[in-house]
Amino acid sequence: METTTLDIQKIRIDFPILSRKVNGKPLVYLDNAATSQTPQQVIDAIVDYYSNYNANIHRGVHALSQEATDKYEAARHKIQKHFNAAKSHEIIFTSGTTHGINMVASGFSTLLKKGDELLVSAMEHHSNIVPWQMLAERTGAILKVIPMNIEGELMMDAYDKLLSNKTRLVFCNHISNALGTINPIEEIIEKAHSAGAAVLIDGAQAAPHIKADMQQLDVDFYTVSAHKMCGPTGVGMLYGKEEWLNKLPPYQGGGEMIAEVTFEKTTYADLPHKFEAGTPNICGGIAFGTALDYMNNIGFDAIAAYEHELLQYATRRLLEIEGLKIYGTAKSKTSVLSFNIEGIHPYDIGTILDKLGIAVRTGHHCAQPIMDFYKIPGTVRASFCFYNTEEEVDVLVSGVRRAVAMLQ
Ligand SMILES: *Cc1c(COP(=O)(O)O)cnc(C)c1O
Repeated sequence: METTTLDIQKIRIDFPILSRKVNGKPLVYLDNAATSQTPQQVIDAIVDYYSNYNANIHRGVHALSQEATDKYEAARHKIQKHFNAAKSHEIIFTSGTTHGINMVASGFSTLLKKGDELLVSAMEHHSNIVPWQMLAERTGAILKVIPMNIEGELMMDAYDKLLSNKTRLVFCNHISNALGTINPIEEIIEKAHSAGAAVLIDGAQAAPHIKADMQQLDVDFYTVSAHKMCGPTGVGMLYGKEEWLNKLPPYQGGGEMIAEVTFEKTTYADLPHKFEAGTPNICGGIAFGTALDYMNNIGFDAIAAYEHELLQYATRRLLEIEGLKIYGTAKSKTSVLSFNIEGIHPYDIGTILDKLGIAVRTGHHCAQPIMDFYKIPGTVRASFCFYNTEEEVDVLVSGVRRAVAMLQ
């Protein structure tokens, strides 16, 4: 790909796992929407933490504790800067997107009353459906669904009609992990605000591809997982507007989140600590910061341009295969190709691809309502990261052809 400014071969050297073999074949890793691989720089940050300054934070007077605290808080500032949040205490460290969404859903149980309405998009990951269903059950609020069309785009006319003065919260992913659709979140947020509703955007799938600007979006809550953007598992971020984080009650009680505790009454710590009970994933938070540095060094504009080319190429090549159907054909999409071959179960294709060293995901991708919509049990999903290449797409295409030949 001549038009790209990225030196992919150089980038690939940063990811030790990309040079391993699987079933005797060079690994072709195309399951990035489930988790991305980790560059040496991030692995080094993890090793450095445990080798040199492992200590609990915010409490010790000793040098190691101070060093760990400084690095952890520096990571929070990196995250704040990356997502352009107005204040660093609007960045809450979480264990990931699922944790962040549950924090907000749980907090809203004290703010909702019977008959209040919640709007969810038809293309959500289960982690942006189930916590809200639990909330609706607890409060008597009503969950309504913003429908999508056959291309996998939200129907904005229907959204307009669903919004009313009863709507309290709207939640939607920025990019669908099952279809790759980039949702028009600017419009979703603006319209929700006009109706007086707050918005939570699940950014888990967007954060590896798009640099979202919290202040420009004027979003109320935004969640991400570090492991989908070159960071470690078990850490993520919840962005919340200060006014909302002040309104919501704490999610968990424990150490670190208090101002004063007596058996009669406890007062809570200021933001962000109010939402960070217990010892956090200190090393993970620091390594998340390193992952952001790594990706910003490459540059999100260059990443987006390259991944767009790769997606176009892969779409064109896969569609050359007879009987292959792609799910998710939105005009605005990125880096995810969900497909099936007529008459063949996706799991069988995935199994054969694995034998060839190609890692894809098969199944419902934690988004069963989407599969129900298309009346299919699941799909084969190839999802790309900036370290993938056209040559790997070619290996995928010949692997799928081979699977078809064996299974038909
Ligand atoms: C991966 C993903 C999640 C869940 O993230 P966890 O890291 O498992 O908490 C939620 N939503 C979307 C869109 C995702 O891609």
